[in-house]
Amino acid sequence: MEIKGFIKSSLLEWEGRLSSVLFLPTCNLRCRYCHAGDLVLHPERLDTVPLTEVLEYLRQNSLWLDGVAITGGEPTLHGPELLDLTGRIQDCGMMALVETNGTRPEWLRKLIEGGRVNALSMDVKAPLESEAYRRVTAVDVDVDAIRQSIEIIRGSGLEYELRITLVPGLVGKEELERMLPVLEGSRQIALQNFRPDDCLDPELEKTTPYQPEEMDYFARMCEGACERCVVRGRDHAVRAAKSPT
Ligand code: SF4
Repeated sequence: MEIKGFIKSSLLEWEGRLSSVLFLPTCNLRCRYCHAGDLVLHPERLDTVPLTEVLEYLRQNSLWLDGVAITGGEPTLHGPELLDLTGRIQDCGMMALVETNGTRPEWLRKLIEGGRVNALSMDVKAPLESEAYRRVTAVDVDVDAIRQSIEIIRGSGLEYELRITLVPGLVGKEELERMLPVLEGSRQIALQNFRPDDCLDPELEKTTPYQPEEMDYFARMCEGACERCVVRGRDHAVRAAKSPT
């Protein structure tokens, strides 16, 4: 497994923590709104960051960094190598967050049972129905695996969040209504407003993100289903309207 991106410190990837961010290549989905085109489709075009360089940086900065967020692509596609990576991060005195699309629950279980992960973040793309999922991911997805991943993460006792990206015409009020019963009782749900730039599906570039008040409405819909709901990218539509054309 090659590391295809390394941000030394970020306050954005892992809420409330100062973390490094590692990007792992390839993904088994093709989400229409994905912004990681090269990482997903052409990782060979990206430079590889040597693991020794990453680990050396972590060892030298372990006093002020909280941890490392591992994202992609889909990190669980790297199975045993992911377990080895998170173990090495922990050996540097760091916590490890793994972000996932939830398609490989067996690897989430191994990470948790092996004590190789400290926090998890999972994208829930759509209502857990094959056709609804496919509309977003553009490939067939085993929604039973997604359901299992949600249950494994919620039962892990670890810090976690379940993330939903809202996209006009694709994931909106009706879809959220159908998703909420599955998410009932979650600790944290993060709602993300869609961004129309550099999407895998160029058609989406014509779509205007939800307005701030619509994102607030979606957050109120989630209030009864979770202990905490956060909204990210609330103002994307406002910013898009102000951008020069
Ligand atoms: S799960 Fe979807 S959004 Fe995430 S990297 Fe894969 S294709 Fe992109």
